[in-house]
Amino acid sequence: RFNDITMAPPDPILGVSEAFKADDHEMKLNLGVGAYRTEDLQPYVLNVVKKVSCFIYSCSCLLHESVLCVYYICFEYVLKFDITFSYKICRQKILCWNGESISGTGSLRLAAALIERYFTGSKVLISSPTWGNHKNIFNDARVPWSEYRYYDPKTVGLDFDGMIADIKAAPEGSFVLLHGCAHNPTGIDPTPAQWERIADVIQEKSHIPFFDFAYQGFASGCLDKDALSMRLFAARGMELLIAQSYGKNMGLYAERIGALNVVCSSSEDAKRVKSQLKRIARATYSSPPVHGARIVANVVGNPDLFNEWKEEMELMAGRITSVRKKLYDSLIAKDNSGKDWSFILKHIGMFSFTGLTEAQIENMTSKWHVYMTKDGRISLAGLSSAKCEYLADAFIDSFHN
Ligand code: PMP
Repeated sequence: RFNDITMAPPDPILGVSEAFKADDHEMKLNLGVGAYRTEDLQPYVLNVVKKVSCFIYSCSCLLHESVLCVYYICFEYVLKFDITFSYKICRQKILCWNGESISGTGSLRLAAALIERYFTGSKVLISSPTWGNHKNIFNDARVPWSEYRYYDPKTVGLDFDGMIADIKAAPEGSFVLLHGCAHNPTGIDPTPAQWERIADVIQEKSHIPFFDFAYQGFASGCLDKDALSMRLFAARGMELLIAQSYGKNMGLYAERIGALNVVCSSSEDAKRVKSQLKRIARATYSSPPVHGARIVANVVGNPDLFNEWKEEMELMAGRITSVRKKLYDSLIAKDNSGKDWSFILKHIGMFSFTGLTEAQIENMTSKWHVYMTKDGRISLAGLSSAKCEYLADAFIDSFHN
């Protein structure tokens, strides 16, 4: 009976945006949302996306084409996009399946279903902390998970020794979920040397690396550079899972465009894995939405548009870096307590993990109208340069009270 269904807990991230909307203070800030915003704190539609959308809408025959037919064409297009990391592997060894999925979340969920079915009992190791939805996804798929240490509150940096020890201690053949770049929520990524060491341990333990790649371009501003971690693993000939989202780096959140990439050890393995993934997809969402795939396909399939996208990506990442710097400068100028604020500059991508306690976060919201998630994460994408000084005042007040 429906009457027996209990109320689900509220979503921690969506709740922040709702509370923000209801606030009418002129200095209010939403640092909860993990989506890019312009200097006016508005969503950004990339110029390349505008151009390509006009083109797509002018091809009315395309719009009415059967989705299933286009679906397979999209695979090809998504493959092309992967020039930035796995396309080379794919072309040379034909070991990789790229399936268009329902953005990053859908790709993770599809991979989770594969793990549940074909690696029954295998654990997924996730970083502590991680993006709030990871636990939800693996719970939903009934895949057991445990955490590996990642964030060190003492240094507001990476607990590298803890991470390595926990990956080593996990049962052989576990899946290790790694954030490809711009770790959410901490903004802390391993260095290239640390990535090598992580790969060593994963290989020693016959674990399977599982990359969540939702922010390609936001760490360094360069799509290519941000693929370093995965390339390094792939270059070792390791089998890989990669859940890719194009939601943020092309501003296509609502189009739900992403891909699950699987790098297998042989083309025969890849064919069988592909057949099973298609089967799971068929029983769940059947075929993915096509509009976002067409946009991505047209951008990456045209060298001029691809370059234009790379430039826009640099601009988006650059704006975030510049507000980081301005926030840091304001904090240093205003705070004479000796607190070390350098973590703001050290962290990369959209996020920083501030270390604010729940009581301090409550002060940020009730007194300063600054909205953020309860774990102390802030999204710098939601900050304008005009509001850096205001945010610095809010931080100083909240940290010292
Ligand atoms: N992984 C991480 C780490 C994320 O932060 C997000 C989005 N917040 C996703 C995956 C999924 O993104 P989407 O489903 O919107 O592509």
